[in-house]
Amino acid sequence: LPLVKSSNSLSFSLQAKMSKPVQARRLEGTDKNIWVEFVKLATTYSTVNLGQGFPDFPPPDFLKEAFVRALSGENHMLHQYTRAFGHPPLVKILAQFFGKLLGRDLDPMTNVMVTVGAYQALFCCFQAFVDKGDEVVIIEPFFDCYEPMVKMAGGTPVFVPLRPKAPKDGKLMSSADWQLDPAELASKFSERTKAIVLNSPNNPLGKVFSRGELELIAELCVKHDVLCISDEVYEWLVYDGKEHIRIASLQGMWDRTVIIGSAGKTFSATGWKVGWTVGPNRLLQHLRTVHQNSVYHCATVAQEAVAQGFQRELELYRKPDSYFVQLPKELQQKRDWLVQSLDAVGMKPIIPEGTYFLVADISEFKSDVPDVPDSGEPYDSRFAKWMVKNKGLAAIPLSAFYCGAHKNNYNHFIRFCFAKEDATLKAANDILQKWKQEKTSP
Ligand code: PMP
Repeated sequence: LPLVKSSNSLSFSLQAKMSKPVQARRLEGTDKNIWVEFVKLATTYSTVNLGQGFPDFPPPDFLKEAFVRALSGENHMLHQYTRAFGHPPLVKILAQFFGKLLGRDLDPMTNVMVTVGAYQALFCCFQAFVDKGDEVVIIEPFFDCYEPMVKMAGGTPVFVPLRPKAPKDGKLMSSADWQLDPAELASKFSERTKAIVLNSPNNPLGKVFSRGELELIAELCVKHDVLCISDEVYEWLVYDGKEHIRIASLQGMWDRTVIIGSAGKTFSATGWKVGWTVGPNRLLQHLRTVHQNSVYHCATVAQEAVAQGFQRELELYRKPDSYFVQLPKELQQKRDWLVQSLDAVGMKPIIPEGTYFLVADISEFKSDVPDVPDSGEPYDSRFAKWMVKNKGLAAIPLSAFYCGAHKNNYNHFIRFCFAKEDATLKAANDILQKWKQEKTSP
């Protein structure tokens, strides 16, 4: 028992009673979170924040108006609970929309479930499918929460890296140059493998997996009877005429795939935290069990507004006025602008085929932030912290998207988010230009 005297006798006695370990074992090793750390740094120091993935421009008017209508309209029941597994208008339109995309009839009640953002959809998947001893294949670099979520469910993450190939003729690298080694991928599958997490378009690289790559993954899933958790939150953000292919549409995959989406990314409204899962009932029924025993329900008004947003998008499907057509067009211009701006200062960009992220090589800036070997922190993380504190520019180190053992394999890259107003991107460019000048002037 602590023998420290406390002026507050209540806190002393409470402390004395808590001599047992407080923390559940499943939390071990999952306490650190890159977003908590870097969001705090960005809030404290940054003048220009290209770190966390959210737009600094507003969602489209039609979506905001739908929210206002839902909020202040006559139907006051929109302020109350709705159906646990998804507000009926939203699951209905999602079933219609994804039914069209996948070319199959979807039942809104059993093939769709609404979640608190894609985060909760992921959480439901790992809790529903992963047991102690199960292995889950994760492709590196990966959206960081997959690893702790697998561990919290008692599973073992098994990592397989995308390996970069140097581009020819001194060209800039593209996210397509980062590829899986088929033999290495196959070696990660065994009878212990329960699931693979696929994230295409991929955060942080912006890689859009090709049909060939998806077929390779699909073949392994079928061969080893493995589930696919397909995180497709950036499904509409693909550039240069590339196509986002849904792995669930490949042979043998519908029955073993859960598709995960996010209105936050789709409609530029990350704060609304509306996400969804689409898949066969044999999988979704278990997600419903986790959902009903955890959050149970998601905000009704936000679901209503997202339903109206999808209604509009279904009517305008593939038409020039569709937000899903316009947003990638606008973002492609921002991507090109940031590529050019980074290239001009020697922070070599890897051109992303999708998402609103761009990874850049910081090697040429190393002299400003000397390495401290054996510091225990990957170089890119120290660099990103130095940059936000000294230059006011926030970005995220690529090592944050690797598991502990691999963090030093690719530690001279940082990730920028370019879903930002042109003025924000210009301000970032000004910082970089000034920095470059200071470096080169004697
Ligand atoms: N998956 C990926 C790949 C993401 O990048 C994000 C958000 N950064 C999420 C899931 C979580 O999405 P949401 O905000 O809808 O929870």
